[in-house]
Amino acid sequence: MAASVDVLIAGGGPVGSVLAASLAGSGLDVALVDPGEPPAGRLRPIALSHGSRLVLEGVGAFAGLVATPIETIHVSQAGGFGRTVMRREELALPALGYVVDLAALAAHLAARAADLRIAGSVLRWQGGEDEARATIRGADGDELWTAKLLVLADGAGHVGAGTSQRDYGQVAISAEVRTEAAPRGVAWERFTPQGPLALLPFADHYALVWTVAAGAADRLAGCDEPSFLAALGAAFGGRLGRFLAAGPRASYPLALRFRRDPVAAPRVLAVGNAAQTLHPVAGQGLNLGLRDAAELARVIRATPRGALGTREFAARAAATRSADRLATIGATDALVRVFSNANPALALARGIGLAALDLAPPARRFFARRMIFGARALP
Ligand SMILES: Cc1cc2nc3c(=O)[nH]c(=O)nc-3n(C[C@H](O)[C@H](O)[C@H](O)COP(=O)(O)OP(=O)(O)OC[C@H]3O[C@@H](n4cnc5c(N)ncnc54)[C@H](O)[C@@H]3O)c2cc1C
Repeated sequence: MAASVDVLIAGGGPVGSVLAASLAGSGLDVALVDPGEPPAGRLRPIALSHGSRLVLEGVGAFAGLVATPIETIHVSQAGGFGRTVMRREELALPALGYVVDLAALAAHLAARAADLRIAGSVLRWQGGEDEARATIRGADGDELWTAKLLVLADGAGHVGAGTSQRDYGQVAISAEVRTEAAPRGVAWERFTPQGPLALLPFADHYALVWTVAAGAADRLAGCDEPSFLAALGAAFGGRLGRFLAAGPRASYPLALRFRRDPVAAPRVLAVGNAAQTLHPVAGQGLNLGLRDAAELARVIRATPRGALGTREFAARAAATRSADRLATIGATDALVRVFSNANPALALARGIGLAALDLAPPARRFFARRMIFGARALP
């Protein structure tokens, strides 16, 4: 069997679903293919910026989401001076961001795009001057689909020509943790020589994302709870009192991987993690992916049907994302490399940088707006 659509989206994670939902009512034939139901089970808290809230509101997917506001972000470095604090009041926003459960967000978004969703997996795809082709494996076997535009939103699978990659030699350990002091809308980002440690307020406790050197990860992920809490307390310090309890831990090896050009082939564009997979420092990956989806939807809607997917269309779509992608990829990569070491000269420079940021509200506002809204926040 063969089917033909205007836009075929491979992957129904948050990014693919936002793109599909943004195209509902556009008059275009749109299909989204994903192998399964949104992931259920263990919570995986994630920080969304205020800018992502606006994207989600655009597709009616923020109301009803359980979201813990982040009103203040406290940034510091272990074993060195200097810290800076960003507050929502400075930016006149209701919150700098929100912590939500990723699976709940994916389910919420999938419901917005349910009419366009088909169950299956893209086995292989091919670009072309006149159409893109994808072989989709579903319950009834394989089908060949053609589309004016194929959008890859299938996560972080691709490695190959046109891809840049850096292995950080780090692993993120995530867990929900309780501390003596209850969260009051403050997110903590503490840079340690092994990597950044983030505590995000989530309901009445914290979500931890702790980056450690790969060699230490197995021990920390597998040790008993008291040993884990003691190591965590030593890395974070005493600002929240003692760490009292930790839920189940999960580990994520960390690498930077990105397509230098999001145009993967004629009539094929990549968005979200399929275009770039970032280190979780400063929580930028999904926020950037949601901006990819929202911007691509805008360009698609502004393009006559007959011109969808052409080389001119693809070049225009890629150009609208170029500054934001490169700036966000570069900023997260620089943060990891400058902050994840014990070099005394760099510790001094970092301390001066953090202290200067704290003393200069315009610079702090500029930095915060960049993190919240992406490159569009640049003057
Ligand atoms: C520890 C950690 C913490 C993080 N914290 C943050 C944070 O605080 N803030 C933030 O913004 N980002 C954060 N991120 C990044 C964020 O998780 C990702 O950027 C985001 O989930 C990517 O969404 P996506 O929709 O692009 O891809 P995915 O969520 O990977 O979705 C891909 C979808 O494609 C489907 N798929 C796969 N293969 C196929 C196929 N062949 N055919 C069809 N469908 C397919 C999958 O089933 C899935 O539904 C973090 C990452 C890590 C590792």
